[in-house]
Amino acid sequence: MIITLKKNAPAAEVEKLTKSFEEKGLQVNEIKGQDFNVFGLVGDTSRLYERDILANMWVENVQRVSAPYKLANRMFHPEDTIVDVAGIKVGGHEKIVIIGGPCSVEGEDQICRIAQEVSECGADMLRGGAYKPRTSPYAFQGLGYEGILDLVKARELTGLPVVSELMSADKIDEFAEHVDLVQIGARNMQNFDLLKAVGHMNKPVLLKRGMSATIEEWIMSAEYIMANGNPNVILCERGIRTFEKYTRNTMDLAVIPIIKERTHLPIVIDPSHASGDWKLIEPLSLAAIAAGADGLIIEVHDHPSAAWSDGAQSLKPENFQTLIQKAKLVAQAIGREL
Ligand code: PEP
Ligand code: MN
Repeated sequence: MIITLKKNAPAAEVEKLTKSFEEKGLQVNEIKGQDFNVFGLVGDTSRLYERDILANMWVENVQRVSAPYKLANRMFHPEDTIVDVAGIKVGGHEKIVIIGGPCSVEGEDQICRIAQEVSECGADMLRGGAYKPRTSPYAFQGLGYEGILDLVKARELTGLPVVSELMSADKIDEFAEHVDLVQIGARNMQNFDLLKAVGHMNKPVLLKRGMSATIEEWIMSAEYIMANGNPNVILCERGIRTFEKYTRNTMDLAVIPIIKERTHLPIVIDPSHASGDWKLIEPLSLAAIAAGADGLIIEVHDHPSAAWSDGAQSLKPENFQTLIQKAKLVAQAIGREL
């Protein structure tokens, strides 16, 4: 619910009203970028009635927000949120960010080698999975803690902040210490205990869209993280499951303008998992930037055919470099920098 007070409402009255909402267990959020006499109520407002609130002579307008998400809602926060990942700014009118790296960390040499290559190509961050959510229990499950320490080595070498997937809350301390951007994978998008746990972390979160999640369910997952105290959420579209078989998933481009309209959060596109095919990465990346994405996360491997996971969708460094050069032109065409 959004409450607008009259311009001349005395501070004491504003405070009285704020207290009365807080006593009902609601969180009162000042709406920034507008008149300070506008605020949003977060919580269960189903038992508040517009006419009762309007009875207060200092209230000008009451607007019920029909969407179930509040903290993520652009109505509550008209300005774009800019998420700071170890000094790299994501969102708003900041530079479009490029995250590159292998699907899985395969060892210190491999991740350091690829980190150097993606860095030379102009990437802003390094990705690499150490805990892998694999469909088959017999497939490579990731190097675990050793992989996280390998990522730390690669960061020391290149200065690139590192992104890695957290699969369970018992590894939170490890990630809090070593990882710059905590990825929640598509399969865990509705693991609510995990979302609450990263809500308590002091690290930004990259929240991937579940493979069968609606946009609203996805935003509600961001809301879980935010409602638990962490406002630094970056959304990541990675394709959804449809009837189509020629691609691994179907990349939903429309989410970019929809997310921008409904929320204030940055959005990054993962064309690798969306397509499953390295040949499709470049056109999908260019389209995502043209549609307003704040960044790309792309799988890169120097020997894709020998990769321990997702080789078929991994770009060789030289193709990654060409992609970045073309992406710069598209960014320029829409008035952004990359
Ligand atoms: C990944 O990024 O390696 C990954 C497993 O992605 P997703 O959760 O989108 O499938
Ligand atoms: Mn992968």
